[in-house]
Amino acid sequence: MSQTDLEQLREKVDAVNLQILSLINDRASVIQEIGKIKEKQGMNRYDPLRERHMLNLLKDNNNGPLDQKTVDHIFKEIFKSALDMQEEDTRKTLLVSRKKKAEDTIININGEMVGQGEPSFIFGPCAVESQEQVTTVAEAIGGKGLKMIRGGAYKPRTSPYDFQGLGLEGLKMLKKAADQYNLAVVSEIVTPHHLEEALDYVDVVQVGARNMQNFELLKAVGSINKPVLLKRGMSATIEEFINAAEYIIASGNSQIILCERGIRTYEKATRNTLDISAVPILKQETHLPVFVDVTHSTGRRDLLLPAAKAAIAIGADGVMAEVHPDPAVALSDAQQQMNLPQFDEYYDSLMKFMKQYEMKI
Ligand code: PEP
Ligand code: MN
Repeated sequence: MSQTDLEQLREKVDAVNLQILSLINDRASVIQEIGKIKEKQGMNRYDPLRERHMLNLLKDNNNGPLDQKTVDHIFKEIFKSALDMQEEDTRKTLLVSRKKKAEDTIININGEMVGQGEPSFIFGPCAVESQEQVTTVAEAIGGKGLKMIRGGAYKPRTSPYDFQGLGLEGLKMLKKAADQYNLAVVSEIVTPHHLEEALDYVDVVQVGARNMQNFELLKAVGSINKPVLLKRGMSATIEEFINAAEYIIASGNSQIILCERGIRTYEKATRNTLDISAVPILKQETHLPVFVDVTHSTGRRDLLLPAAKAAIAIGADGVMAEVHPDPAVALSDAQQQMNLPQFDEYYDSLMKFMKQYEMKI
């Protein structure tokens, strides 16, 4: 075979490649049309009987030289790419998606514009334990000119024998302390049954990591007119996290703050692994404000400051951390809450850090 023969054959291959390319793109356009019809009719995108029919048709008409196994393999890839493309299309249309709404969602909490560019802070004890405890912490938070206090009244504890929280009484204590220092109350609700009575005392409803996929709870908080702080499930992918937020917005509530709080990995040096890259990914993929909970992600007091710096530097809209007047005797998370002098130092260092790098405060 001469060099010119080889070149001619290669040109032919190039031409066939272009034909295949054009044909598979034509096919993709037709599949998109089918996808729209299926969506309207609420039909499943993947139809195994239809796929079997297409493969049989190809088998009946395959005159070689490719063997049937190879033909099946190639076409299955083509079928799969069309399905992937349709999934990509649905993702684009999520209500929480940046593609749906390009501007940042800004949430007014007690006059603080969360998500507007300056980091916000949520501090407070892991759990509400007494009136005195929350009032002491509220005073420290209010003294810094901050606007929010957290505290769990319904505690989702690993062991049923551990302190379960003070329930509604706890919320009343937190609200009383918050009112005294003009703070908004952030507190976790674990079941739709508690929601209505809790709303008199809670300004921001927290959905905890363990409940990120409690779909009935997500729908319930989606129907209220108060901001929701949605924490990432400890084994949830970013996609699952985004879909959990979609449940809330699809039920009518777009005041959602996403909170990265660490995920379970094999690493034992920290309580969870802070997935810091989730912050810019969530900011890119959604229009919602993103917080980082440095307490539950690290589980280590010595890491609260560096983790908060990292969160702010990477673009988080806020930081959550736990503060207790006497962590050593705290009824939950005694290991990682800051006491009041530590809280002062922590907050000062964070402010210095932000000024040093000319970040907005
Ligand atoms: C909390 O913030 O009180 C809490 C229990 O955190 P998480 O749901 O992230 O574990
Ligand atoms: Mn805690």
